[in-house]
Amino acid sequence: MKYILVFLVFFSGSQIFSQEESAEVSIDFLKESLGYLASDELAGRRTGSEGIEKAAHYIETVFQKSGLQPYFETYRDSFQVKGKTGYNMVGFKEGNDPKLKDELIVLGAHYDHIGVVDESKIVAGDSIANGANDNAAGTTSILALAKYFADKQTKRSVLFVLFSAEEEGLVGSKHIAKRLKKEEANIYTMLNFEMIGVPLVGQNYSAYLTGFNESNFAETFNNYAGKKVFGFFSKAKDFKLFQRSDNYPFYQEMKIPAQTLCTFDFSNYDYYHHVDDEAELMDYEHMKNLISDIIPGIEGMANSKTKVIQLNSK
Ligand SMILES: [Zn+2]
Repeated sequence: MKYILVFLVFFSGSQIFSQEESAEVSIDFLKESLGYLASDELAGRRTGSEGIEKAAHYIETVFQKSGLQPYFETYRDSFQVKGKTGYNMVGFKEGNDPKLKDELIVLGAHYDHIGVVDESKIVAGDSIANGANDNAAGTTSILALAKYFADKQTKRSVLFVLFSAEEEGLVGSKHIAKRLKKEEANIYTMLNFEMIGVPLVGQNYSAYLTGFNESNFAETFNNYAGKKVFGFFSKAKDFKLFQRSDNYPFYQEMKIPAQTLCTFDFSNYDYYHHVDDEAELMDYEHMKNLISDIIPGIEGMANSKTKVIQLNSK
């Protein structure tokens, strides 16, 4: 906020506005992005479908307009799944420290969903599982962060990755984790966003982090953020959520701190993989607050002199 005020004093009207836009997470953008990704036009974003191609194109447009570079030859990292082509979407922001820029922080979320449901799951004629919370919300968070970091300087580089074929069994994240390992990418941490569209109820933290006890990720991140953003959720451990999302292949391939943040607690939202998982049920104020709280944590990771976040030894 201080940053904006400085500009208010020294710059003319039009520039104030562009600075303010880029310095904050905009609810208008969250609504636009999530509303589009979870619209019927995209038909539930099933990997290999026309609908997910529209989502991929939208992600490319946001990357491009923000000024993010492709990390590979293009923004697309392609792979085959069940006879179809899937695309992980990857944007890159290079760090500004001559040495630390070779180290990467990966921010990820899956943008695919399950598409059109079987007859048994149709409700009142609606057969499209729009996947607003799962995971247009996570995708939109990554896009908001991409927009935010595109014109900020950090010491380490940041990769923004939207995975496809998560719903087919983490196929996209397995593919890219293997590829990055083969290319000897030096990844420091991986933070994955899953189902963050509805707030937790009755917790003293904003989101739970899966694999909480695998590393000092949450503790370090909360120190950077200056508040308890991430906490421990026992059901995440009971249900082995650490192994069930796109963070896990990064942990498996590279043995790095790679964890998922989530605000779905199994009782605060009734529409998991349901046709009623719709954009209008998302809490945009909550999303804005959460993303805004996460930004200083990412900045702390991206700028620390050494790799402070580490796996716990077993
Ligand atoms: Zn998901």
